[in-house]
Amino acid sequence: MDTLAPDLRTMVRTPLHDSHVAAMRKAGTRRAFAPGEMLTTLGAPQAEFLYVEDGEVEAVDPDGRRYGTATIGPTQFLGEISFLNNGAVMLANRAVTAGRVLAVPRAAMLRLMSEIPEMSDIIVSVFAGRRRRLIESNRASLTLIGAERSREIRAIAAFLSRNRIPYSSVEPDSPEADALAAACALESHAPAVIFGDHKVIDDPTPRKVARLLGIDLPLDDTEIHDVLIVGGGPAGIAAAVYAGAEGLSALVIEDLTIGGQAGTSSRIENYMGFPTGISGADLCWRGEVQAMKFGTRFAVPRRATALARDPDGLFRVMLDDGAQVCARAIVVATGVQYRKLPLDRLSEFEGNGIYYAATDVEARYCRNTDVVVIGGGNSAGQAAMFLSRSAHHVHVLIRGDSLAESMSSYLSSRLDADPKITLHRMTEVTALHGETALDAVTIRDKASAQDWLLRTGAVFVMVGAAPNTGWLSGLVALDGKGFVRTGPEVGGRSTYETSQPGIFAVGDVRSGSVKRVASGVGEGSVAISAVWAHVNG
Ligand SMILES: Cc1cc2nc3c(=O)[nH]c(=O)nc-3n(C[C@H](O)[C@H](O)[C@H](O)COP(=O)(O)OP(=O)(O)OC[C@H]3O[C@@H](n4cnc5c(N)ncnc54)[C@H](O)[C@@H]3O)c2cc1C
Repeated sequence: MDTLAPDLRTMVRTPLHDSHVAAMRKAGTRRAFAPGEMLTTLGAPQAEFLYVEDGEVEAVDPDGRRYGTATIGPTQFLGEISFLNNGAVMLANRAVTAGRVLAVPRAAMLRLMSEIPEMSDIIVSVFAGRRRRLIESNRASLTLIGAERSREIRAIAAFLSRNRIPYSSVEPDSPEADALAAACALESHAPAVIFGDHKVIDDPTPRKVARLLGIDLPLDDTEIHDVLIVGGGPAGIAAAVYAGAEGLSALVIEDLTIGGQAGTSSRIENYMGFPTGISGADLCWRGEVQAMKFGTRFAVPRRATALARDPDGLFRVMLDDGAQVCARAIVVATGVQYRKLPLDRLSEFEGNGIYYAATDVEARYCRNTDVVVIGGGNSAGQAAMFLSRSAHHVHVLIRGDSLAESMSSYLSSRLDADPKITLHRMTEVTALHGETALDAVTIRDKASAQDWLLRTGAVFVMVGAAPNTGWLSGLVALDGKGFVRTGPEVGGRSTYETSQPGIFAVGDVRSGSVKRVASGVGEGSVAISAVWAHVNG
């Protein structure tokens, strides 16, 4: 499968050209550093791009040791991908020798990068490679203890890995966990989240962690954006790329994970340009990096809860933490979310046996065990195929007696051919069992009206989806199922404009759209020309 971000150990390094350095010199200032001086500090905002002109610099672990073996020297630069989105420093840098950096303020550097594409390519490749290295090394500044045991820590692990934020994971009974517990005065074997070498995050949540890393962005309600894109799935990301490329000031608000539903797909095989498939998360990360490179910012996890139009025509989106953001235009790209099953104790086991996505994170928790996938659509089929690689056995439960109408035939044939997958027709789960975590389910065979018990710690619920339109506050026309209507039929001035001028809808949330990655990407891209006309009209 195709992946973004080169492996730094094998990557051929291209230095910035003399003309790039000359441009940076005009925009920045020179600064000397002394041996041992910290050039960047863990958790601080990345306000400047630092290009090393002289001397030697090392990246350091939270515990102060050198990260890896290499150092950064003349013609190299500091930082990683979070620089583009104004995130916090994820790995500090310390001077090994005396030397000098060229410091370019972040906004000026982003401007230069958009003006000089070759320079941008060199920087983005290295930044992305460094992020990949951080993710793969399991030596990040954020340490999670006990993701296997604690639902809260597990939710943070899922949030971090889906948003490609590096973290280290240690077992609660390991020597590393004991050492951390002693250093941080923590109860030993207790689940915890630690930032740096000893900052313990109390009552940790994805939001608290995001705040610490600067990825939820400080939002200013007096700033007027050209366009606010609500939803960071493929449709929203495509809109974000085009908005940035067209020079619009754009902000993406995402509730959970950049990548949306596609981010949970382990392998997308029908997206043009990737003949050997690409993981949805990778595809969306490429788009996110591309959009950030053009200046679009992403705020996550932030949920839009309401929408209003001010008398002056500006839109105001209310967020779940009470913040507000203003924009001249809105792109609704909030997609759909999986339906839940009407089962007792469902919420008790969500994240602790009941899952709505099958990614590497969930696969890790059900290695060599029996798992259940409920649903007969393509996403259920893909999940079953993916899980069968690591699970002992996958039981797919469908209500009807055939997959013919609901699943692509290539996928249902693969399911049939896989000895580790069993399809149970005319079945449904009727009860969930377990003390603190799910350990079994009762399954009813509807044809014989017989119940049976299956020992399992993981049930993947994939039973159709409903549009995320509750936050639109009645401002735009919806169809009978709650999807957003667009186009001339409802008074829209273009295909993707809704009944409210200045509000556009793209992707799965749009009534009548084809629910696929490529169509969402196409709609998000195309809609921006109408957004541009509205903003500049
Ligand atoms: C497991 C799986 C496999 C799939 N495989 C394929 C495939 O192989 N090929 C293919 O073409 N399609 C596939 N699909 C379908 C494809 O992923 C979707 O059609 C596509 O993701 C839709 O994109 P979207 O941007 O419109 O919406 P979504 O992907 O649903 O993204 C919407 C985003 O909006 C966010 N959001 C929702 N409400 C709010 C709010 N109030 N405030 C802020 N943010 C909000 C959500 O968190 C989400 O991230 C698959 C889907 C799944 C689930």
